[in-house]
Amino acid sequence: MSNETRGIFRGTAEAEATRRAHEAALPTPSRPDRVTAAWLREVCLAAGADDVGFVEVDRAGLGAEGDNARRVFPAVRALVCLVGISNRDAIRSTSHATANNAWHHTGSRLDSAAAQLCARLGAAGIRAVPTTMGFPMDVQVPPGQSSWAIAHKIVAVEAGLGHMGVNRNVIHPRFGNFVLLETVLIDTEIDTYDQPLDYNPCLGCNLCVAACPVGAISTVADFDFFACLGHNYREFPFSAVDWVDAVAAGDASAYRAKFRDDETLSMLQSLLFEPTYKSAYCMAVCPAGEDVIGPYLADRARYRDEVLLPLRRHPEPIYVRSGSQAEKAAARNPAKRVRYLDFRPDVSTVANFALGLRHMFTPDTAPADGLRVAFRLPDGALLATVADRQLTTAPVDDLPVDATVACDAPDYIRILHRPTTGRAASVEVGQCTVTGDPTAFARLLACLD
Ligand code: SF4
Repeated sequence: MSNETRGIFRGTAEAEATRRAHEAALPTPSRPDRVTAAWLREVCLAAGADDVGFVEVDRAGLGAEGDNARRVFPAVRALVCLVGISNRDAIRSTSHATANNAWHHTGSRLDSAAAQLCARLGAAGIRAVPTTMGFPMDVQVPPGQSSWAIAHKIVAVEAGLGHMGVNRNVIHPRFGNFVLLETVLIDTEIDTYDQPLDYNPCLGCNLCVAACPVGAISTVADFDFFACLGHNYREFPFSAVDWVDAVAAGDASAYRAKFRDDETLSMLQSLLFEPTYKSAYCMAVCPAGEDVIGPYLADRARYRDEVLLPLRRHPEPIYVRSGSQAEKAAARNPAKRVRYLDFRPDVSTVANFALGLRHMFTPDTAPADGLRVAFRLPDGALLATVADRQLTTAPVDDLPVDATVACDAPDYIRILHRPTTGRAASVEVGQCTVTGDPTAFARLLACLD
């Protein structure tokens, strides 16, 4: 007789009873209450990790990470920190594609090692959960809860795998900071836990301070998290909201005032493959670690020439907020081109117009003899000066100008918009009245991109 209820197949009552009796007679799975660190280390290395350390979940030094571990896996008793070595010469390359490929490769390898480890531990009766090496994160979390599962750096330090250096990367005593980290949570205790190192591999050489294009690292101030987030993580989800806004606005000319074609391609690459770190030069230049330090100690000047200077001199856009310390740091390096995260291609204010001019200025196409163009706009006036292949914006002064551009259109920011077929097609430029040298305005527009 069928035992079916509400469309769910149940089989016959006899078959059901037989199955339930079988399940009740199954032996309780055996699981070890404790494993040896030596055995577990061997399993971790065999799974593909390059080094490993162990921390009990109740360790005070973990701070909030103990609670984070319990949130992810309530049965957790110990944290297993896995280390994966990255190709340091690839990370030192001025080719972002090369450096990012190295990180992504190590990330995949570490993810795979964690998955293999969990499978091997599962076969031994130990429940284990990998916590994601970096991304994705839990971006829709309740207020007050971190979006990351576990802060791996804190676990790594407690696991004796290094200390954070001036650059805020964990520096492994042997591999230096050329490592990625992953944490696996297990429901079993370990007979011996690791302890933090009693020294820091960081030399205090401050090469990382010199390398950071946004000045996020300082020996006298706190780490500038938002400067790092804005530039290095430009194409990661939490820093690309303005890109989504610009795309969603549906105005191609406005979009092209904010994003150059190469920036669009780079963003699409990050979306299609994996997000691209924009610098991480603080990691690239770090000479710390037994396997790394030799060339630095042998010849510091040569190390600086071969490792630091190519990155300092590499021409590239640097993403900052206007008025920030990061803007000042980026502007000090003539090889870098400052791009403004807070420029809004849809906002007609004098301040935003000035920001747009600076955002779009391309020194390579700037007139060698300089320019002074005044703008008279509905809500104020502005002077744009090009000198020594640099553009500055300031209030209008009493000195002569090459041209004065008057525009009373309320949406005058469209002067900066960049139609796909060239700026000359812009109707808004036609709404401007130019006095003085009419070619001066055209020459200014010609050096915006
Ligand atoms: S570059 Fe020098 S100061 Fe910076 S983290 Fe590495 S060793 Fe420390």
